[in-house]
Amino acid sequence: MDCPNCSGTLNEIENEGVTLDFCDDCKGLWFDRHEVADYFELSRDLPELDGVDRQLGPSRMSCPRCKTTMNQILYAPPNQLTLDRCETCGGMWFDRGEVPQLHRLSAQLEDPRSRFSGLTRNLKARGYQIVGFKGD
Ligand SMILES: [Zn+2]
Ligand SMILES: [Zn+2]
Repeated sequence: MDCPNCSGTLNEIENEGVTLDFCDDCKGLWFDRHEVADYFELSRDLPELDGVDRQLGPSRMSCPRCKTTMNQILYAPPNQLTLDRCETCGGMWFDRGEVPQLHRLSAQLEDPRSRFSGLTRNLKARGYQIVGFKGD
């Protein structure tokens, strides 16, 4: 798939049974519907909690699968996190820097057990330099 954020290509990465699509150019990450919940071992995808009524309007990006314009969603308390979601397929795009924010958020919401350290190890093993984890 083409990256919705830049001219790069999304590379599939298999990590602990979940396939993620990662852009090596802009370091963004694409999750198909339910992959966010699966990945972070949450019972549901985060923006379905109360993000639906926090639409910020159309995203500047198009869905890499459907090619339709995505919507920006504000997932606010306790963190400020703006996500781009495709209303057609339910996929979500995380810009560089948004994944660790979600990681912190998911740790606050449910089981602090997380696969995120596994993901970063996996990415580093493949030569990727993912987002900075200052303080983690
Ligand atoms: Zn990109
Ligand atoms: Zn879509």
